[in-house]
Amino acid sequence: MKIIMLGAPGAGKGTQAKMISEKYGIPHISTGDIFRANIKEGTELGKEAKSYMDAGKLVPDELTVRILLDRVAKEDCRDGYVLDGFPRTIPQAEVLDEELKKKGDQVDRAINVDVPDENIVGRMSGRRACLKCGATYHIEHLPPKKEGICDACGSELVLRDDDKPETVKKRLSVYHEQTQPLIEYYEGKQILCTVDGTKDAREVFAAIERNL
Ligand code: ADP
Ligand code: ADP
Ligand code: ZN
Repeated sequence: MKIIMLGAPGAGKGTQAKMISEKYGIPHISTGDIFRANIKEGTELGKEAKSYMDAGKLVPDELTVRILLDRVAKEDCRDGYVLDGFPRTIPQAEVLDEELKKKGDQVDRAINVDVPDENIVGRMSGRRACLKCGATYHIEHLPPKKEGICDACGSELVLRDDDKPETVKKRLSVYHEQTQPLIEYYEGKQILCTVDGTKDAREVFAAIERNL
């Protein structure tokens, strides 16, 4: 099963993608996590991506597509995957479709986690992320068992550089301009389902399960 998560920054794509990954036994692939891992390791890719990410802009399609296609070519993706944060532009979606089509394959479902802009800034300032394993928490809504420490891997949690309110506002406008058109794109392919992302994370997951 090949699943795509759509939604504004902070809508809960990563949180839901992790649950889908666990339930269906398919890898959770986040382009943002791949970029952050590269930044942490100080690679050339990381250096290039960081300038865009810190400004709240998208990393150019060419670079992002190359990273994603390399990742999904790996053995563990043979039976499917859940993509979180990719595609973020129509050209990215088109490249993915073309690559899959070459293998007689296609995306099965695009899940749109719907959360209004008003809710987003609060979610982001309370978000704490684990840069080692990609888990995210929220200081009020989804706190880790031990403050500041990842439940999954024991690493220290951080407030991401790009989760500051000014950058979040920029990311939201980029989302509306470049990513939101994907909702119509997948609707046209009749594989879109929209869930109310303002509900409790477990309720959101239950709605997703009903649609898969
Ligand atoms: P969020 O979880 O808030 O939606 P991500 O971790 O998915 O954020 O992405 C963080 C940043 O990484 C984005 O703001 C963007 O700069 C970059 N990025 C991640 N995925 C993509 C993509 N598919 N295309 C372009 N840039 C991306
Ligand atoms: P995205 O990957 O879309 O950027 P995340 O999954 O990282 O979003 O979630 C953003 C923040 O909101 C995190 O702090 C997360 O713990 C919190 N969060 C996720 N889902 C919910 C929910 N249903 N209700 C409240 N907070 C949530
Ligand atoms: Zn962790």
